[in-house]
Amino acid sequence: MLRIVVCVKAVPDPKEADKIRIDPVTRTLTRCDVPLVLNPLDKHAMEAALQLKEQLDAHIAVISMGPPPAGKIVRECLALGAEQGFLLSDPAFGGADAYATAYTLAKGIEKIGSYDVVFCGRASSDGSTEWVGPEMATFLKIPVVTTVREIVEYGREWWKVKAGLENGYRLVQVKLPALFTVTRELNTPRALSFSGIIKARKKEITQWGISELGVPEESVGLKGSPTIVSNMTTKDSKREVEMIAGTREEKAERLIQKLADAGVI
Ligand SMILES: Cc1cc2nc3c(=O)[nH]c(=O)nc-3n(C[C@H](O)[C@H](O)[C@H](O)COP(=O)(O)OP(=O)(O)OC[C@H]3O[C@@H](n4cnc5c(N)ncnc54)[C@H](O)[C@@H]3O)c2cc1C
Repeated sequence: MLRIVVCVKAVPDPKEADKIRIDPVTRTLTRCDVPLVLNPLDKHAMEAALQLKEQLDAHIAVISMGPPPAGKIVRECLALGAEQGFLLSDPAFGGADAYATAYTLAKGIEKIGSYDVVFCGRASSDGSTEWVGPEMATFLKIPVVTTVREIVEYGREWWKVKAGLENGYRLVQVKLPALFTVTRELNTPRALSFSGIIKARKKEITQWGISELGVPEESVGLKGSPTIVSNMTTKDSKREVEMIAGTREEKAERLIQKLADAGVI
């Protein structure tokens, strides 16, 4: 059986982005007042696991680190077809940077038990550091392939995947267990089904805090974070509109002149 772990992050709902606040003391995002949704790229990580399960004898566990409301996205993944759901939630985990997040998730994955494949999204839609996947692989001492856009071959021991490059792709052969961060090119996530939602209601979500993980407080959350976002400013993106008068030719000429003056062309 292929044992798959999918890491899913609860991110602030982009439709309610105006409610996102920065904690003046910890300088981290406060998530509790904003509805949380499944990180868009993690839907592709989940879909990759589900497609493998349709072709192979596979078991899917999903894991998320977040405040209690993040349980909602774990249940969403159970409704999509995951067998097990794990939520790492503890006030001590709060304010974690990418390093501390990766460490905590790695400890959670080790506690789940043996696995062959770990899927992550390439990036989250809020922090977007793209570091959690590779840092988790370092803590788990397994190989990592980032920006996977196609699974070419999936053997019992070795996989071959296509991973993104600026102007092309690289073909990577990797020995399992391994971690893969995925892009949206990999697949098209399926929609939730009513029967899946009903079935998921009966499935239990296992919640672990710092005592269950058995890790020291200094290695998680704000205390375990070697980086601190010392300030965050939101850019005022007001757009100025200028109507250019004249005939079509005159408008085109004036526009080209303005773009040239602005150094755009
Ligand atoms: C504006 C901003 C700037 C930041 N800058 C930095 C910085 O420079 N350095 C730094 O260390 N931290 C930084 N952080 C904090 C960092 O974003 C958080 O620690 C975050 O929880 C983890 O990183 P990420 O969202 O960037 O993950 P990414 O690396 O972008 O996420 C990639 C994948 O990892 C998995 N993943 C990430 N978080 C979780 C989770 N909580 N549960 C389950 N799976 C998860 C998901 O599969 C996700 O798709 C910043 C946060 C913000 C909002």
